[in-house]
Amino acid sequence: MKVLKFGGSSVASPENIIKIKNILLAYNDPIIVVVSAFGGVTDQLLQAGEMAAKEQTGYKDILSEIETRHLDTVKELIPITAQSKVLSKVKSELNILETLLEGAYFIGEITPKLSDKIVSFGELLSSYIISEYLASEGLDAVYKDSRELIKTFKLAGKNVVDFTLTDTNCKEYFKNNGAFITVCPGFIATSKNNDITTLGRGGSDYTAAIYAAALEANVLEIWTDVSGMYTANPKMVKQAKAITHISYEEAMELSHFGAKVLYPPTIQPVLSKGISIHIKNTFKPEEEGTLITKSRNEGGKTVRGISHIGNMALLSLEGPGMVGIPGISKRFFEVLSQADISVVLITQASSEHSICVGVSADDVEKSVEVVNEAFAYEIERGKIKEVIPEKGLAIVALVGDNMKSHQGLSGKMFSTLGKNNVNIRVIAQGASERNISCVINEKDVKKALNALHEEFFEENVKQLNLFVMGVGNVGAKFLNQIKSQEKYLKKNLKLNVRVVGISNSRTMHFDEKGIPLDTWQDTLSTGQKADKQLFIDRVNDLNLRNSIFVDNTASAEIAGTYPDFLSNSISVVTCNKIACSSEYNNYARLKSLAREYNAPFLFETNVGAGLPILDTLKNLIASGDKVLKIQAVLSGSLNFVFNNFNDSNTFHDIVKRAQEEGYTEPDPKIDLSGIDVMRKILILARESGHVLEIGDIKNNSFLPKESLDTRNNDDFFTSLVKYESDFQKIYADAKAKNCKLKYVAQFENGKASVGLQEIPEGHDFYNLEGSDNIVLFFTERYKNLPLIIKGAGAGSDVTASGIFADIIRIGNF
Ligand code: ADP
Ligand code: ASP
Ligand code: MG
Repeated sequence: MKVLKFGGSSVASPENIIKIKNILLAYNDPIIVVVSAFGGVTDQLLQAGEMAAKEQTGYKDILSEIETRHLDTVKELIPITAQSKVLSKVKSELNILETLLEGAYFIGEITPKLSDKIVSFGELLSSYIISEYLASEGLDAVYKDSRELIKTFKLAGKNVVDFTLTDTNCKEYFKNNGAFITVCPGFIATSKNNDITTLGRGGSDYTAAIYAAALEANVLEIWTDVSGMYTANPKMVKQAKAITHISYEEAMELSHFGAKVLYPPTIQPVLSKGISIHIKNTFKPEEEGTLITKSRNEGGKTVRGISHIGNMALLSLEGPGMVGIPGISKRFFEVLSQADISVVLITQASSEHSICVGVSADDVEKSVEVVNEAFAYEIERGKIKEVIPEKGLAIVALVGDNMKSHQGLSGKMFSTLGKNNVNIRVIAQGASERNISCVINEKDVKKALNALHEEFFEENVKQLNLFVMGVGNVGAKFLNQIKSQEKYLKKNLKLNVRVVGISNSRTMHFDEKGIPLDTWQDTLSTGQKADKQLFIDRVNDLNLRNSIFVDNTASAEIAGTYPDFLSNSISVVTCNKIACSSEYNNYARLKSLAREYNAPFLFETNVGAGLPILDTLKNLIASGDKVLKIQAVLSGSLNFVFNNFNDSNTFHDIVKRAQEEGYTEPDPKIDLSGIDVMRKILILARESGHVLEIGDIKNNSFLPKESLDTRNNDDFFTSLVKYESDFQKIYADAKAKNCKLKYVAQFENGKASVGLQEIPEGHDFYNLEGSDNIVLFFTERYKNLPLIIKGAGAGSDVTASGIFADIIRIGNF
């Protein structure tokens, strides 16, 4: 004998019911088929009952939907010749349902007894229709009403199964029933007085387990809409995988903490008889599913699954009167239990000063009322405070048989959540040490589940979610680089880099699943209107783990948004120098936000484009070295200009060419005036640990005042033509001394300066080609011979690759 249970979605439509028939055809042993109500019907019945009790006529609309759905199903599944009997039975049941709802409507009230009676129609109708359909298809199928077999009695205000009576009933009935298939409604039972009772939401699983245990079935099969019990709810975590084999205890723990695929009480009856549970997918019967047996998961994965319960609240009872007084917690739990409130999680501070329990948010008002009433005496005397409720929470739990013997799992759990800015309210570990659970904000659940899943199950493939602002020269190259490196990163660095949002100054577009990078231009051009604040809000609302904001603009306004990201634990990578070269306080604040919220703030490309200058400096300092002096040629643009400028061309033409070839900022004056170099030496000085402002840097500019004072690019270029002879003189003077012109930045003894210098042959700076940069770090370790970093220091390609390198640094963080 096998017991099979088909859940709500498996019986939700005539097509699905036909699938069930095809599944049943493959069986050779007698089977009991337990079915749920058609998907969604239980909710509708409950809602109709509530509306009727509130005297809202809307219940009639729901009833009529239920009617149509059932009658249509009969018409679709059962041949016309056999239809009338079934239709009339279904109609007569629906009439009774209507009368019951009318009763609730006229009395304006619904008792638990009436509610159970109303809700029982879901399973009654589905099981009857399915049994008739199977018989009409020629299968040897009969119908048996579970209310006649499964009996309940009241215990502490709750309906519990009377196993002795139920077992006898089942054995008796099935001894004499020779049908190959017996179809029974799940979820419903009766009390000793024959009142209809129900077994709790999701209770059809339990019904099937009760039959399986009573009849000592070979197996209990739970057929549902997913291919087994997964490492996490597959609707929340796309990468979750079905667990092929799991122990009863692990399955129980996962379902207790919210893995809805199995109703928690289901395991107990079959566990005691050693009957295995097989979870299978009605829509993909070929898939293996999950086998739940008593064999322990020896030597297997430590963490077997992650589950969560939403809609939770915490109740804290605290006060000086609790210390050392025995019985307070006993009273606390008793009063909750008497009010039929189930406690999902308990923690008590070791000081005994407070006890904190997790309950369903729906029970909060009732809990507060009963607890405050029970402790009124103590509250009045100031010994205990009124109970403090906190809503909007969820529990996330890691589960596994072998967790007990492994240290450090909770540390890993909490640091993963911490890195993703998931605030943990309470931590609890079950006495079995088979779970570690914590209470977090409900809004963080999806992020938390995905981050934990990645940490514990995804062989360290880490997903990075990028939000890219600015897709001009640098941004476009950056996106192309990601596209061409996607596979490499996944395979070699175990990084899955996904661009979730992009924006330019006109439009923006988001796609949580990742924007396809071969068509991003088209996607963006048809995106919504760009809006800085909406962009920030969207990034924060999406609340994805490992989020990184990438700023490829040169905009001060965008630089001003970094605190919004960092303070939500979203990392920032930027090639925009404005933030780091703004007032010291602003720079320092960003660095401290990054530390406080565990969100890297990286700006390697601010100095020397893709060259690893800041990273090297950071490593020197972290390893205890001290910077004594920095000498550098940091302007790729000025290098390009002075490497190409001579007496056979004009300064104006060379600057124009530099601008056209992307070697200067969009406003070339920023480079030519030395401001860009000032910003870079400022950032180097700050990263070396010095408090410096841009105004503290001496700028020996070679530009005539008139050029410096121009207000737009055209005027600037015109002024360059006007002062051509001045520029030629600078060139001639250097040439006469056999020197080359380099724009040098220097930092020593807390002071920085920038300016054009004549560099003689043999100097480290003399042979700098094209747009190359060079930095000499003189430190305590590199006192006489400096540490030199040299290479291409400008251009969109190298800048994009520098941003990319920062992204990878965060990936490895
Ligand atoms: P049925 O109607 O067949 O009883 P349920 O909706 O009660 O089905 O349970 C199946 C659902 O359980 C899945 O669709 C899935 O969303 C949810 N679920 C939650 N956690 C898990 C998990 N760890 N593994 C599989 N499913 C899960
Ligand atoms: N129909 C009931 C419910 O929706 C029982 C079940 O489907 O398991 O809760
Ligand atoms: Mg279910």
